[in-house]
Amino acid sequence: MAVYETRLIACPMCQAVTPHEVRKTNHGLHLVLTLMTFGLWLSIWLIAIVLGNPKQCQQCVARLHQQAMQAQLGQQLGRLDGRR
Ligand SMILES: [Zn+2]
Repeated sequence: MAVYETRLIACPMCQAVTPHEVRKTNHGLHLVLTLMTFGLWLSIWLIAIVLGNPKQCQQCVARLHQQAMQAQLGQQLGRLDGRR
């Protein structure tokens, strides 16, 4: 049940400010779970805070997806050439 938002962040791969999908920690949910488990959930909440919010550049994701599709298409064309 992750919450995502889009932010403009400098991407070292693109060397530009690009839209990034950022996973947000749902602190309200962690608070409720900590109270419901009498504090046992607090360690998991702290791990979520320490690990931080992963960010993913949308332009890099699109470029990697395009490269994967081209590689897959190349393999399929290669297989078709091999059958002749
Ligand atoms: Zn990027």
